[in-house]
Amino acid sequence: MAEKTLLLEVITPDRKVLSEEVDIVVCPGVEGQFGVLVNHIPFLSALDIGEMYYRKGSQVEYIFVGGGFAEVTGDKVTILADSAERGREIDVERAKRAKERAERRLAMGRAANIDWARAEAALRRAMARLKVASR
Ligand code: ATP
Repeated sequence: MAEKTLLLEVITPDRKVLSEEVDIVVCPGVEGQFGVLVNHIPFLSALDIGEMYYRKGSQVEYIFVGGGFAEVTGDKVTILADSAERGREIDVERAKRAKERAERRLAMGRAANIDWARAEAALRRAMARLKVASR
Protein backbone atom coordinates (compact mmCIF):
# COMPACT_ATOMS: atom_id res chain seq x y z
CA MET A 1 0.00 0.00 0.00
CA ALA A 2 1.21 3.51 -0.80
CA GLU A 3 2.45 5.69 2.06
CA LYS A 4 -0.09 8.27 3.19
CA THR A 5 0.63 11.78 2.01
CA LEU A 6 -0.41 15.26 2.97
CA LEU A 7 -2.23 17.66 0.65
CA LEU A 8 -0.41 20.99 0.56
CA GLU A 9 -2.27 24.00 -0.81
CA VAL A 10 -0.70 27.45 -1.06
CA ILE A 11 -3.18 30.22 -1.81
CA THR A 12 -2.81 34.01 -2.07
CA PRO A 13 -5.51 36.65 -2.57
CA ASP A 14 -4.69 36.51 -6.30
CA ARG A 15 -4.26 32.84 -7.10
CA LYS A 16 -3.67 29.26 -6.13
CA VAL A 17 0.11 28.90 -6.13
CA LEU A 18 0.29 25.16 -5.57
CA SER A 19 -1.74 22.07 -4.74
CA GLU A 20 0.38 18.93 -4.27
CA GLU A 21 0.45 15.67 -2.36
CA VAL A 22 3.64 15.82 -0.28
CA ASP A 23 5.45 13.91 2.48
CA ILE A 24 6.43 16.82 4.71
CA VAL A 25 5.96 20.59 4.84
CA VAL A 26 8.21 23.01 6.74
CA CYS A 27 6.92 26.55 7.33
CA PRO A 28 8.25 29.85 8.77
CA GLY A 29 5.93 30.24 11.79
CA VAL A 30 6.08 33.53 13.68
CA GLU A 31 7.32 31.58 16.68
CA GLY A 32 9.85 29.61 14.67
CA GLN A 33 10.01 27.10 11.88
CA PHE A 34 7.68 24.11 12.16
CA GLY A 35 7.31 20.89 10.22
CA VAL A 36 4.15 18.94 9.45
CA LEU A 37 3.79 15.26 8.61
CA VAL A 38 0.56 13.43 7.83
CA ASN A 39 -1.67 12.87 10.90
CA HIS A 40 -0.31 15.93 12.66
CA ILE A 41 -2.69 17.31 15.30
CA PRO A 42 -4.84 20.15 13.92
CA PHE A 43 -3.52 23.66 14.55
CA LEU A 44 -3.34 27.19 13.21
CA SER A 45 -0.24 29.34 13.04
CA ALA A 46 0.59 32.80 11.81
CA LEU A 47 3.44 32.81 9.29
CA ASP A 48 6.41 35.12 9.11
CA ILE A 49 8.04 36.40 5.94
CA GLY A 50 10.43 33.68 4.80
CA GLU A 51 10.76 30.45 2.91
CA MET A 52 8.74 27.29 3.23
CA TYR A 53 9.54 23.98 1.63
CA TYR A 54 8.00 20.61 1.03
CA ARG A 55 9.47 17.22 0.29
CA LYS A 56 7.86 14.64 -1.96
CA GLY A 57 9.97 11.51 -2.27
CA SER A 58 13.43 12.80 -3.09
CA GLN A 59 12.12 16.07 -4.53
CA VAL A 60 12.36 19.22 -2.41
CA GLU A 61 10.84 22.54 -3.45
CA TYR A 62 11.25 25.94 -1.77
CA ILE A 63 8.54 28.60 -1.89
CA PHE A 64 8.67 32.24 -0.84
CA VAL A 65 5.94 33.28 1.64
CA GLY A 66 5.28 36.92 2.50
CA GLY A 67 3.52 36.13 5.80
CA GLY A 68 0.01 34.80 6.35
CA PHE A 69 -1.53 31.78 8.07
CA ALA A 70 -1.15 28.01 8.02
CA GLU A 71 -4.07 25.72 8.84
CA VAL A 72 -3.14 22.14 9.58
CA THR A 73 -5.63 19.27 9.71
CA GLY A 74 -4.77 15.56 9.77
CA ASP A 75 -4.16 15.23 6.05
CA LYS A 76 -4.03 18.78 4.73
CA VAL A 77 -1.95 21.94 5.13
CA THR A 78 -3.47 25.14 3.78
CA ILE A 79 -1.19 28.15 3.50
CA LEU A 80 -3.07 31.43 3.14
CA ALA A 81 -0.26 33.78 2.21
CA ASP A 82 -0.20 37.53 1.66
CA SER A 83 2.06 36.74 -1.29
CA ALA A 84 3.84 33.55 -2.36
CA GLU A 85 5.94 32.42 -5.30
CA ARG A 86 7.66 29.23 -6.31
CA GLY A 87 11.39 29.70 -6.90
CA ARG A 88 11.11 29.70 -10.70
CA GLU A 89 8.38 32.36 -10.56
CA ILE A 90 10.54 34.88 -8.73
CA ASP A 91 11.69 37.86 -10.75
CA VAL A 92 15.21 38.26 -9.38
CA GLU A 93 15.81 41.72 -10.87
CA ARG A 94 12.57 42.96 -9.33
CA ALA A 95 13.55 41.57 -5.93
CA LYS A 96 17.00 43.23 -6.22
CA ARG A 97 15.34 46.56 -7.01
CA ALA A 98 12.96 46.14 -4.05
CA LYS A 99 15.95 45.33 -1.81
CA GLU A 100 17.87 48.43 -2.95
CA ARG A 101 14.80 50.64 -2.50
CA ALA A 102 14.25 49.37 1.03
CA GLU A 103 17.95 49.71 1.91
CA ARG A 104 17.99 53.31 0.65
CA ARG A 105 14.99 54.12 2.83
CA LEU A 106 16.45 52.45 5.90
CA ALA A 107 19.80 54.19 5.34
CA MET A 108 18.01 57.52 5.81
CA GLY A 109 17.79 56.63 9.49
CA ARG A 110 14.97 56.42 11.98
CA ALA A 111 14.70 60.19 12.27
CA ALA A 112 13.80 60.53 8.59
CA ASN A 113 10.16 60.65 7.70
CA ILE A 114 9.88 57.04 6.52
CA ASP A 115 7.64 54.16 7.52
CA TRP A 116 10.39 52.10 9.15
CA ALA A 117 8.37 48.93 9.71
CA ARG A 118 7.16 48.99 6.10
CA ALA A 119 10.68 49.44 4.71
CA GLU A 120 12.00 46.69 6.97
CA ALA A 121 9.27 44.28 5.87
CA ALA A 122 9.95 45.12 2.20
CA LEU A 123 13.65 44.39 2.76
CA ARG A 124 12.87 41.06 4.44
CA ARG A 125 10.56 40.06 1.56
CA ALA A 126 13.18 40.97 -1.04
CA MET A 127 15.94 39.06 0.79
CA ALA A 128 13.73 36.00 1.27
CA ARG A 129 12.81 36.06 -2.44
CA LEU A 130 16.47 36.22 -3.44
CA LYS A 131 17.25 33.31 -1.13
CA VAL A 132 14.45 31.14 -2.52
CA ALA A 133 15.38 32.05 -6.12
CA SER A 134 18.98 30.96 -5.48
CA ARG A 135 18.02 27.50 -4.15
P1 ATP B 1 7.62 45.05 -5.05
O1 ATP B 1 8.03 46.30 -4.32
O2 ATP B 1 8.60 44.60 -6.09
O3 ATP B 1 6.17 45.09 -5.54
P2 ATP B 1 6.72 43.65 -2.68
O4 ATP B 1 7.50 42.85 -1.70
O5 ATP B 1 6.15 44.94 -2.19
O6 ATP B 1 7.67 43.86 -3.95
P3 ATP B 1 4.37 42.02 -2.50
O7 ATP B 1 3.44 43.05 -1.90
O8 ATP B 1 4.93 40.97 -1.60
O9 ATP B 1 5.56 42.77 -3.29
O10 ATP B 1 3.64 41.28 -3.71
C1 ATP B 1 2.79 41.96 -4.64
C2 ATP B 1 2.58 41.03 -5.84
O11 ATP B 1 3.74 41.01 -6.65
C3 ATP B 1 2.32 39.57 -5.45
O12 ATP B 1 1.44 39.01 -6.39
C4 ATP B 1 3.70 38.93 -5.55
O13 ATP B 1 3.61 37.54 -5.82
C5 ATP B 1 4.31 39.70 -6.71
N1 ATP B 1 5.77 39.86 -6.61
C6 ATP B 1 6.45 40.77 -5.85
N2 ATP B 1 7.76 40.70 -6.04
C7 ATP B 1 7.96 39.68 -6.93
C8 ATP B 1 9.11 39.11 -7.53
N3 ATP B 1 10.35 39.54 -7.26
N4 ATP B 1 8.92 38.08 -8.41
C9 ATP B 1 7.69 37.64 -8.70
N5 ATP B 1 6.56 38.14 -8.17
C10 ATP B 1 6.68 39.15 -7.29
